[in-house]
Amino acid sequence: MKFPLEIFEDQKNKDKLEELLKEGLCDNCLGRQFGMLGHGMTNKERGEILREFAGKKESETCKLCGNFFKGQIDKVANDISKKLGGMEYETFLIGSIPSDEVARKQDELWEKFGIDNVEPIKAEINREVGKRVEKLAGKSFSLKNPDVTAVIDMKKNELRLMVRSLFVGGGYKKLVRGIPQSKWVCLKCGGKGCVNCEGMGQLYPTSVQEIAEKPLLKATGAKKSKFSAAGREDIDARCLDWRPFVLELIRPLKRKIDLKKLEKQVNKSKKVQVKGLKVVADKGVVRNLKATKADKTYLAEVKFANKVDLKKLKEIRKFTKEPILQKTPIRVVHRRADICRKRAVRSITYQVVDDKTVMFKIRGESGLYIKELIYGDEGRTTPNVAAVIGNKVKKISLDVIKIWTK
Ligand SMILES: [Zn+2]
Ligand SMILES: [Zn+2]
Repeated sequence: MKFPLEIFEDQKNKDKLEELLKEGLCDNCLGRQFGMLGHGMTNKERGEILREFAGKKESETCKLCGNFFKGQIDKVANDISKKLGGMEYETFLIGSIPSDEVARKQDELWEKFGIDNVEPIKAEINREVGKRVEKLAGKSFSLKNPDVTAVIDMKKNELRLMVRSLFVGGGYKKLVRGIPQSKWVCLKCGGKGCVNCEGMGQLYPTSVQEIAEKPLLKATGAKKSKFSAAGREDIDARCLDWRPFVLELIRPLKRKIDLKKLEKQVNKSKKVQVKGLKVVADKGVVRNLKATKADKTYLAEVKFANKVDLKKLKEIRKFTKEPILQKTPIRVVHRRADICRKRAVRSITYQVVDDKTVMFKIRGESGLYIKELIYGDEGRTTPNVAAVIGNKVKKISLDVIKIWTK
């Protein structure tokens, strides 16, 4: 522990110290003005050394921090560790927002004396409170990806906790038609319940998200979640292969959860199944997931209005030889840009079920609109099955049977 007192052989530095000592600072605040000098010591120790060197006593009340480091700091650390006591975490970080008064005083000093070797007050508060909370709570201070960040807001005179979300990844199957992937909140009432949504606040009674999240919300004490997946099937389509997804549990109180058990609980559902649940790192996983471009194979049972012309039906094989041009489907064009895209059909085979019904098996590039490929969307998708065989589509029952993730 050594402070380079030799810097005061330089008259300029000596004058600076003399003047600083007149500012009425506590040892911490004095030491911090030289915070980048000397190793292995606290600012308080720096301050003590400097004051001893200059033969001056410490001021009663610090004009910069208002004696935060002498009095309030222990109470703040106590309050934080109490507040953290209600949740499960391993690592934490402290953040702070100085009051306007403190910020002004700090700026004033910096203008007068320059900022060489100075450490900002925020940094010292965060570190010193952190040390105390480490001791009180027996947890680790961590700058990298802490489970929870306690913010000391001196402007508003409050303590806030920012809790890192818990991300759980896995795969899901949707075994029934008629439920959306994520919660579909009623736009008319924003979820409060109205005539439009028959008082439910949402347009469908349940969703893949709600079925998957329910036991996890309960186990973690999180109030809500965000659901992301590698693409999505239509509401009326089933998904019979495991589709990768990530559930972000927001503000969890618990992090150590038995995912095997929770998986079983989700899988009591007859509508949705999940597998391979595991805690995943963070938002990066969600980004990758959303960027995943996987081919999909579909089974589509299609009922036509009239008897199917089997000779013409053979012509659909040419779909693999040319790009499919798709203008944004009419059913979604109200919420998406009206563009034209090219997508590939990798393979297409079929089986005739009866004279008006055909089962198609189609592998398409990511983003291919399958229904539109079949019924044509009033000519907005070309080529399309309906046009090629000169028939009208009455009903399509669609299943995703394979998601070609690598
Ligand atoms: Zn002070
Ligand atoms: Zn509503």
